[in-house]
Amino acid sequence: MPEPSVTRKDERERQTSESRVGLGIDFHRLVEGRRLVIGGVEIPNTRGLAGHSDADVLIHAMCDSLLGAVGRGDIGTHFPDTDPRYRDISSLVLLEHVMRLLADDGWRVVNVDATVVAEEPKLTRHFAGMKAVLGGVLDLPSDRIGLKATTTEGMGAIGHGEGISAQCVCLIERALR
Ligand code: MG
Repeated sequence: MPEPSVTRKDERERQTSESRVGLGIDFHRLVEGRRLVIGGVEIPNTRGLAGHSDADVLIHAMCDSLLGAVGRGDIGTHFPDTDPRYRDISSLVLLEHVMRLLADDGWRVVNVDATVVAEEPKLTRHFAGMKAVLGGVLDLPSDRIGLKATTTEGMGAIGHGEGISAQCVCLIERALR
């Protein structure tokens, strides 16, 4: 086999920046007597998501995607649900913490793209508000924050209204040298 003319090491030496992707997925049950907070925004609803924190399923998926991109575990390892400090805490505080971890290593977020899976309520009208709140923490304009909502067409636990799920991917980048 002939030697390749450009080795991977050469390739790395030519690069001026590196980038990573990350994936996060989360699920929470819908229960009576809880506020419904998604994407940092409180949404009027008869039921809210159960959890140790405010159970913001979208932000949890976002945190996991960012932590995944840098191989730093997941939200459960950084903010254990047995720790009373995190009881009912706003998940925006957790996202701020994750962003500080990344920034300390020189990372910035290029974009995030997320989908919330919920039979109800309708979320689309709240996306502008979510983008404003999330953009402030992620330091991103609204066109770098993808927010979508879908249902499962009535299928399965989420389709029966038992809970809400969210998935998020992110791209992050940092300068080399
Ligand atoms: Mg969660």
